Amino acid sequence: MLTADLRAAADLLRTATDVTLLGHVHPDADALGSALALGLALRRRGADVRVSFGPPAGVPESLRGLDPAGLVVPAAEVPAAPELLVALDTASAARLGWLEDRIATSGHVLVVDHHASNTRFGTHHVVDDTAEATVVLVLALIDELDIPLDADIARCLYAGLVTDTSSFRRATAATHRTAARLVEAGAEPTVLARELMDAHPFAWLPMLARVLGRAVLEPEAAGGHGLVHTAVTLADMTGVRPEEVESVVGLLQATGEAEVALVIKEMAPGEWSGSLRAKSAVDVRATAAGLGGGGHRLAAGFTTTGTAADVVARVREMLQSVR
Ligand code: 5GP
Ligand code: MN
Repeated sequence: MLTADLRAAADLLRTATDVTLLGHVHPDADALGSALALGLALRRRGADVRVSFGPPAGVPESLRGLDPAGLVVPAAEVPAAPELLVALDTASAARLGWLEDRIATSGHVLVVDHHASNTRFGTHHVVDDTAEATVVLVLALIDELDIPLDADIARCLYAGLVTDTSSFRRATAATHRTAARLVEAGAEPTVLARELMDAHPFAWLPMLARVLGRAVLEPEAAGGHGLVHTAVTLADMTGVRPEEVESVVGLLQATGEAEVALVIKEMAPGEWSGSLRAKSAVDVRATAAGLGGGGHRLAAGFTTTGTAADVVARVREMLQSVR
């Protein structure tokens, strides 16, 4: 991230009196934690703030604890022409979904993101693909604005940091120093880990038994690096939340024989959302991009249509060509 970009963004935020903060559709802890942390910080400076994201999904149950102040508003309540729009953890305008039209109607658009594929769709940008999470860039902005951390801000930042680094599996010394600051400011790692990751209903276990029981290992795929994959069908999803469905890829990616893990999730009959994970050697962002999606080198996603077998075949083929 360029210091000049950070300064320009801080100048914009310093004088703002009304700020609309948006995360990507189906927000995760990094998107929502980033928006809420910056929203809380700007509200402390006296600005009117609101946080939102495109429908259909609401705030995932596991993330509701990040917003005790109630900053999140339904997308329909986002002003038609926001004075200042901040898009967080959002690589392209399309990832704002139904709220994409606000890009054109806002006075200024600040983009804060850590995706290498970011299309720089704003008027101001704090974009750094070396940041392990968007919350790290939000913390840099809060520091640049000289706003002190409080426990509510620290919890939101910690939530994005712990989830986007896969519980500090992908962490540097700087990541741990950032985490230490957030814990000192009041983020509680034990409470947050339980809320965010370890509070599945019992129905999670039979769902996993079915879905993991159908997992397939293809050692020759991905140029011999190995692929493990499974599908979560609409029938598998009965009685569980999106949180349970999203947990599957994390389990699959711990398979030692496979560099790449793929979980395809049936969003509607014949419509699939795919999650790809790699350990180090394969660039799954390129694979996802080949299917119209995006993400990071080691964690990416896409949506597509067809039978489960079709979708897996397309990913298998793409893995051979882009690897
Ligand atoms: P996940 O598998 O956890 O849903 O997503 C992993 C990464 O891929 C995240 O950085 C997410 O933003 C990105 N991603 C997931 N789905 C899509 C998609 O449909 N399009 C794009 N451009 N990126 C996606
Ligand atoms: Mn992120």
